[in-house]
Amino acid sequence: MIIVLKRDATQDDIDHVVEKIKVTGLAVHISKGKERTIIGVIGDEALLSSIPLEALPGVENVMPILKPYKLVSREFRKENTVIEVRGVRIGDAEVQVIAGPCSVESRDSLIECARQVQASGARILRGGAFKPRTSPYDFQGLGVDGLKFLSEARKATGMPIVSELMDPRDTETFAEYVDIIQIGARNMQNFRLLTEVGKAKKPVLLKRGLSATIKEFLMSAEYIAAQGNSRIILCERGIRTFETSTRNTLDLSAVPVLKEETHLPVFVDPSHSAGRWALVAPLARAAVAVGADGLMIEVHPDPENALCDGAQSLKPSKFAALMDELRKVAAAVGRSC
Ligand code: PEP
Ligand code: MN
Repeated sequence: MIIVLKRDATQDDIDHVVEKIKVTGLAVHISKGKERTIIGVIGDEALLSSIPLEALPGVENVMPILKPYKLVSREFRKENTVIEVRGVRIGDAEVQVIAGPCSVESRDSLIECARQVQASGARILRGGAFKPRTSPYDFQGLGVDGLKFLSEARKATGMPIVSELMDPRDTETFAEYVDIIQIGARNMQNFRLLTEVGKAKKPVLLKRGLSATIKEFLMSAEYIAAQGNSRIILCERGIRTFETSTRNTLDLSAVPVLKEETHLPVFVDPSHSAGRWALVAPLARAAVAVGADGLMIEVHPDPENALCDGAQSLKPSKFAALMDELRKVAAAVGRSC
């Protein structure tokens, strides 16, 4: 249920409503927008039946949330959520680009890559340290050393860093090193992991599962939000279909659908969708045109010798050219890049 407060509701009014709800044992989630405050109550609404909520001072309206996802729904919060990470505003007018190698391979190559993508306009650095590889014989990442190199690259460039967490036992380590915790497609429904990152109070980049519906995707985001962490970035990265000419099928319609359904920022990863570097630029342009708040793009100084996903990685020069094109597309849809 959501309780919409009047524009002129005072802090005392808000505290009074919250107190009334808390005595029933239910938890509240408060969302303070520019215009008004909304109080969300998740749980058994029958417990509130004896409280005349509509009659409390400052209350304008009491409404049920009809969607199965509550806290992440547009019903709960009309305004877009903007997540600020080290001065980078995600979900605002500027389309933000996360770029970097699939995996962190060495300290020097990572810092070189970070400097190059930053010079082209990327604002956030990516790099996998714990890699979810299909084969146990493939490169699995540098582990904690990879996280250390990422934090050195942050120190060298000032860019916030994002890396994928695969095991709930590593959550504290990630919270210590990275600015944004990535949950990969393969773990989108690892509910223990989602609960742990919800508690970690760090922004989370949640990637859509390989065969997940949009509803399932949002239910996974709800797991994180239910722990009190609503700083969630959703990332469409292609889904499994019968089509084999691309690694995955980029579901561009997911972007406007998600923008309707949720207040969270929506990103697109054209690299893992396409699986081939030549398709990355057209898909990235399309993603910005369709309303994505940001992109995640794999860039490698020497893709031919990359330890992971070289075929879909852009060379830094190609990435620079793409950023020039994206600025034009962003301007055409009333945004910057
Ligand atoms: C990644 O971004 O490094 C990755 C493994 O992507 P996904 O989880 O979307 O496959
Ligand atoms: Mn990759």
